[in-house]
Amino acid sequence: MVKILQVAQLGNEILRYPAQPINNIGDKSVQKLIDDLIATVVATNGVGIAAPQVSQSDRLFIVASRPNLRYPNAPKMEPIAMINPQISSHSEEIVKGWEGCLSVPGIRGLVPRYRVIEVEYTDREGQLEKQKLTDFVARIFQHEYDHLEGLVFLDRVESSKDLITENEYQKQIVNQF
Ligand code: ZN
Repeated sequence: MVKILQVAQLGNEILRYPAQPINNIGDKSVQKLIDDLIATVVATNGVGIAAPQVSQSDRLFIVASRPNLRYPNAPKMEPIAMINPQISSHSEEIVKGWEGCLSVPGIRGLVPRYRVIEVEYTDREGQLEKQKLTDFVARIFQHEYDHLEGLVFLDRVESSKDLITENEYQKQIVNQF
């Protein structure tokens, strides 16, 4: 049965460990973790979630961009499990955009990210995939990838003045689009 998992919050050491590569994608435990992560990201109005956020130190995350209460302007796509992901190249261009994190509730930050990235990952069937990602989806990938390295978006914010509460974000920023 699919389970909504508990999300580790800032201060929990698991968020600060580098995650380990997965070499048993076909195993029931890995497939179940993928199903549970997808259910959890949908239930929490996230657009991505990484395994370390549910206390599994594995190189796996879900990218699940779709418009919802937390991200009204997100592009719509089916949730994708990305296993042992890598960034193979990136644009010179860097753009700042607002991010939140299920592990950092109540706070948004303006985070610089590459606008375009080329990525590789293994999908849940064990196939190697190569994709070019841009803008918001590229941002999600980079945010989730950081979780596999033990980083959170707060580490990337250039100034504490680029932090804002969720309430202020909803009042000020969302209405600008
Ligand atoms: Zn996050």
